[in-house]
Amino acid sequence: MGFTQIEKDIYLLRLPFGGTTTGVILLCGTQNILIDAGGSAALVDEEILPALAERGLTPADISVLTCTHTHGDHIGGFARLREAGVRKIAVYARSADKVRDPLHYNIEIRKAFPKNSPPPSAGLVGTNVDEILSDGDLVGGRLRLVATPGHDDDAVCFFDEVTKTLICGDSVQHNGTLVQGCGAYMSLPDYRASMRRLLTFDANAVILGHPFLPHGDVVRGREQVRAFFAEALDLTRRYGDFVRKMRQAGVSDIAEIAKALVDDVGGVQPKHLFLPMYTVREHLKEIQ
Ligand SMILES: [Zn+2]
Repeated sequence: MGFTQIEKDIYLLRLPFGGTTTGVILLCGTQNILIDAGGSAALVDEEILPALAERGLTPADISVLTCTHTHGDHIGGFARLREAGVRKIAVYARSADKVRDPLHYNIEIRKAFPKNSPPPSAGLVGTNVDEILSDGDLVGGRLRLVATPGHDDDAVCFFDEVTKTLICGDSVQHNGTLVQGCGAYMSLPDYRASMRRLLTFDANAVILGHPFLPHGDVVRGREQVRAFFAEALDLTRRYGDFVRKMRQAGVSDIAEIAKALVDDVGGVQPKHLFLPMYTVREHLKEIQ
């Protein structure tokens, strides 16, 4: 497949992930930066390293490896890329412990709804962190870290000040991916605040961690980007209205509401319902 150019100096590699894809972003410049690393060491060997080679790069040419958040599908390749020789791993402060022990966090996430969660990703291996980043830090001289919690508490975006591109990972969910059912957030107040924050950026393009329904993984154009964040914010109101109606109809089972919500947003029922259940739990907190 290889890296596809999205903006000047910014490339996206789409890795297979269940029935969807996970993005790895490469920014080429005086420093080459890699954002996210797919779900496993095998994907590093089979996809990321060959794609870098196609662009004339080896892991030793990567000055910084960072991530948008620490879910397994984004940091599963970290330890392997470290072994392969990337020069530095720099992550947001809230991600650091999870990068050091990703399997522990992977297990933690599954504890909220054990019956509806997939088995832990046993292949996740930790690695040490060379540099801790804070909100507002500049990475590689041009990527501004923007903390955008909500999907998870360590979710961040990177704003490229040269091309005015926002690299968002899973921070903006819309109706979720094809395999998760609907938008997923672990904190509704944080998610809403993050959408409002993203609306203040004068961005020309957005690159997402997966194709999120209904927009896909790239949004282009200043007006389109603004509308995109406004719509994400509005969707939380629609989700909230739906959950409130179910609750008023006497339904209190989180799984039952989550299933109905997935149908309502036109999503595909996921194999494991835990992510929609996190979302419903947040909306129920707001109602109660
Ligand atoms: Zn993801």
